[in-house]
Amino acid sequence: MSVDCLFCRIIAGEIPSYNVYEDEFAFAFLDINPIARGHTLVLPRVHVTKLAELEGEALSGLAAALQRVAAGVEKALEPEGLNIFINQGEVAGQVIPHLHAHIVPREKGDGVRFETPVVKLAEEEFGKVSELISKTI
Ligand SMILES: [Zn+2]
Repeated sequence: MSVDCLFCRIIAGEIPSYNVYEDEFAFAFLDINPIARGHTLVLPRVHVTKLAELEGEALSGLAAALQRVAAGVEKALEPEGLNIFINQGEVAGQVIPHLHAHIVPREKGDGVRFETPVVKLAEEEFGKVSELISKTI
């Protein structure tokens, strides 16, 4: 636990939240600034900032909880769709530096927007980028 972390303090019960799920590895509650009704956050109990910092059971536990909570949101609210995503890094929109996945219920015409212009890459750039990434995995 990080004493300066809002999410660690929520997990510890020091700050109230609208909890929807918890187990040995993960914790889930409603986003207090939702972009849609039922916008839910799923996070590991352990304080990490990046997905790559999670290992073993903590990682698989988070994945299992994410799947379980997403299924719960679907069953409870019956949205037409879901966005499930992680913002990593401030530039990507991560506001709280405790890894968390968003589950956002979606309805046709709900006004939630994720669309951005498509980046044009040359054929050789696709090759370079795929090689750069695949070499590191
Ligand atoms: Zn934390």
